[in-house]
Amino acid sequence: MNKKARLFRDSLGLVWKSAPGWAAANILISLLQSFLPLALIFLIRLLIDRITETVSAGSGIPEIIGLIIAVVVIYFLDEVSTGAGNYIRRNQSIKLESYMFGLLHSKSVRLDLINFEHPAYYDCLSRATSEAPWRPNSILNNIISMFRGAVSLLLMAGVLFSLHWGLVVLLLAVNVPGIWLRLHFADILYNFQRSRTPDARKSAYFSWLLTGDRPSRELRLFGTGNYFISLFKTAFARQKEEELRIIRKRTLIGILSDTVKALALLLLLVYVTGRAASGNLTLGQMAMFILAFRQGMSYIRDLFGSLAGLYEDSLFIGDTFEFLNLKESIKAAEPQMPASILRTGLEVRDLSFTYPGNTSHTLKNVSFTVGRGEIVALAGPNGAGKSTLVRLITRLYDPDSGVIRYDGTDIRNIDPDAYRKMFSVVFQDFMLYNMSAGENIRIGDLEAADAETRIRKAAAVSHVHDMINNLPAGYDTVIGNLFDDSRELSWGEWQKLALARALFRNAPVLILDEPVSALDSDTEYEIFSRFREVVRGRTTILISHRLTNISFADRIIVISNGEISETGTHDELMKARGIYHRMYTRQASRFGECSNP
Ligand code: ATP
Repeated sequence: MNKKARLFRDSLGLVWKSAPGWAAANILISLLQSFLPLALIFLIRLLIDRITETVSAGSGIPEIIGLIIAVVVIYFLDEVSTGAGNYIRRNQSIKLESYMFGLLHSKSVRLDLINFEHPAYYDCLSRATSEAPWRPNSILNNIISMFRGAVSLLLMAGVLFSLHWGLVVLLLAVNVPGIWLRLHFADILYNFQRSRTPDARKSAYFSWLLTGDRPSRELRLFGTGNYFISLFKTAFARQKEEELRIIRKRTLIGILSDTVKALALLLLLVYVTGRAASGNLTLGQMAMFILAFRQGMSYIRDLFGSLAGLYEDSLFIGDTFEFLNLKESIKAAEPQMPASILRTGLEVRDLSFTYPGNTSHTLKNVSFTVGRGEIVALAGPNGAGKSTLVRLITRLYDPDSGVIRYDGTDIRNIDPDAYRKMFSVVFQDFMLYNMSAGENIRIGDLEAADAETRIRKAAAVSHVHDMINNLPAGYDTVIGNLFDDSRELSWGEWQKLALARALFRNAPVLILDEPVSALDSDTEYEIFSRFREVVRGRTTILISHRLTNISFADRIIVISNGEISETGTHDELMKARGIYHRMYTRQASRFGECSNP
């Protein structure tokens, strides 16, 4: 089966699956709508002829009344079916929209994180989200309207053929330019829209810089408003100018094709009026032929319009399927092993990793172990690869080479979702949820039993309980500034919430990547002076640039340029007088507490 036919089949499959009842109703009402106009034209012809006969013969009034009622009934049915059709189609498209969003969202949740490293992924996502909710329905409607158009056209052509076969040819011929126009410009517009996706994303980004909450403070302080406005205008104008140029060209050619159609109507009028004037046509027949030609024109336009629409749909729906069919490589390899509470420990062996598009290794032959219950600290300069290591350990990325073992099992053999349940993480760029304070903590473990009490305990350990209690609705207060009745927090308070969220999650391994960078010194002191109590004996990987905070760790691993350069306890590393010694001494000297051994 060729690619386009497969896309159509798959799209119709989606339409049907999303709302089979509404899809069937849509087909039925569309069929009804294709017969009603012909019935109407036929009745109008009968009515005019009867009126003409009545005027000359002076009888037949009851028959005329019957015909008038029939015309009104058919007209009424036609109108009602239009309204009902719109209602049915709207219902169906809402169902489909929600179904498609479901597919898109669950796909993007499952998708490998590495995809976010590729700009092409964002282009694909952006096209898929703008097209997916309505394209499959457009395919169904175009197919229905093509079918409807074909049936109605055949009926109208039959009527015209009874007058002269040339009228059928005329009807078909005058529509050729319009059809060509749509097909030709469908290609042009699709290619244009595909090529402008990066510009569209760029202008959306500049628009967010100008209107978003996060950039609003720097924007005012650095006075970058006008600069971003000009960047937005450039990106916006680049895409719109080209689009307008294409549409202008299409409109001009469209006027030519409309002129051809108007000439055809003129030809028909001259011919039919001539025949009526010479007594070869009744007035009713004349009206019927004119209406049939007019209807035929609109059916043929619908028919080929829907054909061209289908062609357009096939181009655009490809993007949606391209996104939905993106492969996920982060999954459990065979033989699959279960994930269980850590018994022995984690082992990282010869791990190397490079981000897509980067030329040098981010991590190179990194090896170390973390025993159960150990607190291991990662230290090292900016860009050394510490956060990347966390992403690999939690299997957000797979390494280029090397292996990570969890209790001796290669983590690639464990279902990623089950494996990640064993971890609780405070990321350096932790999330802020514009939800209630309690919900912000509960998100750490949505299935937790006894959540209320444990949420408060976690909040107390991360020193945020009192602050939450003082909010207007306590733990139910919505925080952030997106919604009504919400309270914004300071950055440090958000960070305490993120820490509470991680502590609330009852996972055997805790990873804290700069968890206190924004906390006040008292809170920081409180947390680190009782750190083992805070982590409650959990296996912990701790990253911090403030080396006094990690000096108590069972082991400190110093990473620089993606490689392990030193490992040991604080005392061992200070004795070794390497990178750690230098960094620690410099930091300590700033606070006048140099303890150079
Ligand atoms: P810091 O102490 O500043 O947090 P880090 O040791 O945690 O740094 P990483 O964030 O792991 O360092 O980054 C390691 C290297 O990988 C850096 O050179 C960085 O530029 C690069 N890098 C980080 N994230 C990405 C990414 N998403 N895509 C491409 N390169 C990245």
